Amino acid sequence: MAKPPKAKKPRVALKKVSNVKLGGKKKKSKTQAQLKKQLDSVFSVYIRRKYANADGDVACFTCGKIMPWQHIQNGHFISRSYLATRFHEDNCRPQCVGDNIFGGGKPLDFEENLKRELGEIYVEEMKKSRHNIVKYDRHWYTEKINYYTEKIHELSQ
Ligand SMILES: [Zn+2]
Repeated sequence: MAKPPKAKKPRVALKKVSNVKLGGKKKKSKTQAQLKKQLDSVFSVYIRRKYANADGDVACFTCGKIMPWQHIQNGHFISRSYLATRFHEDNCRPQCVGDNIFGGGKPLDFEENLKRELGEIYVEEMKKSRHNIVKYDRHWYTEKINYYTEKIHELSQ
């Protein structure tokens, strides 16, 4: 009489394992970390293509070197570690890997050029806004991903 419940246990455990496996391939909802990563990627493509010409070439914001948008990076003036300005279009410009990574972002040149373009007061205000407390949820990330996916689509037409 005690046997049937015993036999049931491993079956449940096996079912759980297979669900996890299937879940990965099925439309299992993404974690917030995955959505953030996806937005980083979509947002980066948008920034790089936004400034590219019809041939797909774009100039590095800090050294002026011209290259295909696929080879340039999305440079952040205010570090990506500040979530409040991480996805702010005015904080981002195409930047070559030499300046963005090896040059530490070339913050002085970045700031100078950004101020020339957007004005000193605006850039100073944006700098302060990096401390703003933001609480992005999965819905926010999903909306932004859809928004920038659409913008990229518009650019490629
Ligand atoms: Zn450069």
